[in-house]
Amino acid sequence: MAEPPSKLLFTDASSRLDRALQHVEISEDAIARLKYPKASLTVAIPMRRDDGSLKIFQGYRVRYDDTRGPGKGGVRYHPAVTLDEVQSLAFWMTFKCALLDLPFGGAKGGIALDPRSLSRAELERLSRSYVDAIADFIGPDIDVLAPDLYTNATVMGWMMDQYSIIHRKMTPSVVTGKPLALGGSRGRNGATALGAYEVIATLLPKFERQPQDTTVAIQGFGKVGATLAGLLARSGYRVVAVSDSQGGIYAPRGLDIPSIQEYKTAHRSMKAVYCESSVCNIVEHEVISNAELLQLKVDVLIPAALENQITADNARNIRAPLVFEVANGPTTVEADRILDARGIQVVPDILVNAGGVTVSYFEWVQNRSGLYWTQTEVETRLRERMQAETAAVWAAARDRSVSLRTAAYVRALKRLGAALDAKGTRDYYR
Ligand code: GLU
Repeated sequence: MAEPPSKLLFTDASSRLDRALQHVEISEDAIARLKYPKASLTVAIPMRRDDGSLKIFQGYRVRYDDTRGPGKGGVRYHPAVTLDEVQSLAFWMTFKCALLDLPFGGAKGGIALDPRSLSRAELERLSRSYVDAIADFIGPDIDVLAPDLYTNATVMGWMMDQYSIIHRKMTPSVVTGKPLALGGSRGRNGATALGAYEVIATLLPKFERQPQDTTVAIQGFGKVGATLAGLLARSGYRVVAVSDSQGGIYAPRGLDIPSIQEYKTAHRSMKAVYCESSVCNIVEHEVISNAELLQLKVDVLIPAALENQITADNARNIRAPLVFEVANGPTTVEADRILDARGIQVVPDILVNAGGVTVSYFEWVQNRSGLYWTQTEVETRLRERMQAETAAVWAAARDRSVSLRTAAYVRALKRLGAALDAKGTRDYYR
């Protein structure tokens, strides 16, 4: 067998596995299987542009592991999407689903494109064409799609409809994160932010902190970052800095998050917020870059944008004692070592951002049972799961004297190892 993919991001992602393996007893067979993505599909996606020309996009779907259940994971639309990135994200989904004990494996998909360069009609044609290209590779019991960066409920609705057209039957449970009108779950939109909020609220007392005396900087003001900023501000945390891909704003006395959300929606970019809004006049603030945001002296730092933000180059300059990874993979392995040596606690992505896929699971269950839950039911179940798993990861880290990341991987690995081993050796194939 060839070497596992060796490009940087996947190597980085899977070295988390190696570290956790030092702390858990699982069979050699299980370890060997977990080192490789089970199946990776690369597709050419034809799309007719509004001007009549044909454009071909490159797309991917990777099913990393499906031992514990169908593959599960989002579809990302971003110019930087590559097979390496999608494999890494599928790897993280595998551990995330196992950590929350969801009956799913891990998967991910993506298309390399700048979504802002397409009209709405083009986006719909592209999304449907992507499903045509991967239709044999997905299914409610095979691999279930969901939103990720720059995809949303509308896109999920198109994808589910396209799959249903191909299979000539309405198949809501092949996609989660759909519009409510098409079988989406109440509470799915805000689920990742609410889950992250619960992780933060559960761990804060462990660090002997109160919301009122906790300053927070959030990198990324997308769906998750902005919603989380709102939840934290409403609970009394002092959110002092936020940013989007263009840059950010820092107000040591605290930002007025609702008005920033309003202006960001109206003007699309954070720049418009600080340059054109009344916030500019009423709050003493500074305009900062994303790099500066990461290095602010705050109590809690929340990377909620892309992977590889905290690296060996800037880890020594991080001044927050607590980092909550809302993005997938924002800290590199080398940066992890530096932060660890400096006593900075990093709460890992596979725990912090697991609220989204947890409510995706609830949506899948509702689609299959045909019984729909209230918002309160969804949120109560989500909060309970996030609190319980956060407390368990905390306790495992203390018991074993390991980082919270290693503790989370150890818990996930135990479940994955047990499932792989329970399937037996499958030696009859010989
Ligand atoms: N894209 C989200 C994540 O990275 C949600 C995935 C899902 O709901 O399947 O966790």
